[in-house]
Amino acid sequence: MASVEVVAHRTRDVESWVLAVKTGGAEYLFGRFGEGTQRVLADQGLVRLGRVRQVFVTGSGQSWTELGGVAGLLIGGTGLLTVYGSRRLQWAMATLRGVEFRQQVRFDVRYASTAIGNESMTVTPVELADATTDATDAVDDAATEQVVEGILQDMGSTTTQTRQLPVPPFGQNNTTMCYVIQPHAKPGRFNVAEAERLGVPKGPGFGQLRKGFAVTTPAGIVVRPEMVIEPGQDQDRIVVVDLATPGFVRAALDYWGSSSTSTSSVSTVMHILGPDIDPFSAEYARFMRLFPSTCRHLLAHPAYVPDAVAATRAAQVRTRLAAVWPSRFPVAPTTTTANPIPAGQDLVIEPAMARPDQPDVDGICGKVQAALSQQQDNEHPTTTTSSSSSVECVCVGTGSGGPSVFRNAVGTVVRISDACAVVLDCGEATYGGLRAMFSDAGVAALLAEIALVFVSHMHPDHHLGLVTLVDAWTRAAQTHRTLYVVGPRRIQTWLDDWAQVYDSFRDRVRFIDAECCCTTASGLTIKTVPAIHCDSSYSVVLLRSNSTAAVAYSGDTRPNVAFAAAARNATLLIHEATLDDTRVADAVAKQHSTVTEALLVARHALARNVVLTHISPRYSLEFMIGLDATAQDASVTVALDGMIIRCNR
Ligand SMILES: [Zn+2]
Repeated sequence: MASVEVVAHRTRDVESWVLAVKTGGAEYLFGRFGEGTQRVLADQGLVRLGRVRQVFVTGSGQSWTELGGVAGLLIGGTGLLTVYGSRRLQWAMATLRGVEFRQQVRFDVRYASTAIGNESMTVTPVELADATTDATDAVDDAATEQVVEGILQDMGSTTTQTRQLPVPPFGQNNTTMCYVIQPHAKPGRFNVAEAERLGVPKGPGFGQLRKGFAVTTPAGIVVRPEMVIEPGQDQDRIVVVDLATPGFVRAALDYWGSSSTSTSSVSTVMHILGPDIDPFSAEYARFMRLFPSTCRHLLAHPAYVPDAVAATRAAQVRTRLAAVWPSRFPVAPTTTTANPIPAGQDLVIEPAMARPDQPDVDGICGKVQAALSQQQDNEHPTTTTSSSSSVECVCVGTGSGGPSVFRNAVGTVVRISDACAVVLDCGEATYGGLRAMFSDAGVAALLAEIALVFVSHMHPDHHLGLVTLVDAWTRAAQTHRTLYVVGPRRIQTWLDDWAQVYDSFRDRVRFIDAECCCTTASGLTIKTVPAIHCDSSYSVVLLRSNSTAAVAYSGDTRPNVAFAAAARNATLLIHEATLDDTRVADAVAKQHSTVTEALLVARHALARNVVLTHISPRYSLEFMIGLDATAQDASVTVALDGMIIRCNR
């Protein structure tokens, strides 16, 4: 029997709605996969990612925000995953051709045009066209399709990196992907007595029949499965609709209301709805009533789930840290309640919410809290007064590699007094991380301060959050301002691709090639230093107008004398410290730094304050806080997600 469960719902920081259908040891995911989905699924433990073979993406796929989490699932996954969705999903994933992958990746992303069968079910895609837009469409361009599919098949190769991506299939005719899921019939009972009567030998013979093969008995009788297995039992169907706008609701009414579409034996409908759709309007009630009266309706609508923070375990640790050290760990105001489902419904309607198993975080929280309260005495007394040369470091994500439960992919924002704010790398869900830390107004204010984004290199954990962040910036910052993006040239290609979707990118984003090592923008001089890591990887130093180094950031690198020299006397040096000192060989092999190597660079540079980040998820939080204490130097901090560090000269 197939089980149906909501395994991720939309929160402040992760825009996902995911329904899991589990049957016979395999799991299939349906819905929207915003940035951070992979992390939420790992955190809540309701899905075993290793068992997921197929993912079905709903919606129109008009923005990266809707699809960004698919990239994380493909890159971080087992390599066996096949993702189905719209043509726009294929195009969006093809924009990642410039990424430097650490291992062989398989971008098996397919357009769901016809019914898809697997060992457990048949999934029929229903692509609805917005009833309010006219039906001209550029989607059926065979040449475009061929190029996009060619890129996806050859993802990661150097020839693909430089291929031109055609204009995206975002025609006037907006469509949305929905799915009808028909689990295979439950196998009928195996009639042992009858099989024995016919002379089928026990063991392998029974097994063959169960698998659907005929067996010849020692007496020469051919026994076919239907002779000993009773007819199977049909299972109920499941429908997932994604209706962002009223035009899609009308299209859904037309489709499921038509006499040729059967709604019988549908037992569950998940309704992923845009904020402007009123699920309790007369029109929407008409749609729900097309399904059997016993059908369970899962309402995936932002107003009917609490505005909480995802990644429960990390959020709980953070809340504890905030209680001990509020100035260092801001936590966004959230709500635990949502609009109730109006009383008096004659339909079965419930909010689509994942029920996280309550993990035991008390143990780890206690240790973190104890370690931190010991250190509190060492804190600089000067942190509350900001001098004209101060720097504030907002550690959004502090992990190495893909996102893990306690550390998200790396992303840092530095606020340089008398200058501006700068983003130093932005892994998947960096924007979501900011939303977990600050209120809506707080996030908007911080974004408006940002003038520059630096991307150190093309490993995906350093830049998958860029499109969402830049999009949010264009909405938060004044329209006359320009955002500078400094990074490897392949970042420009990525931004150019997405400028075809987000018009604002074309007008307001200016790319600066990190290879041109010295430029001035927004009152800061940006000096890049080639890093000792992968192809086209850089460290960066941000200098004030008086030529003093405000911030130096290593990116991913082996210890580098050239970087130390460029970072001389920096107010703040942020260095990667992926591994501990027992793993030097590993650090050399993967071109990273150990904690002591990072501190040596900082000493060489005479940096006033040091933040260590990009820490391997193999280390527990207590371990890293212990390291912080053993550094016995109040100017050194091991970063934690959601931490703010204030530095004076
Ligand atoms: Zn790297």
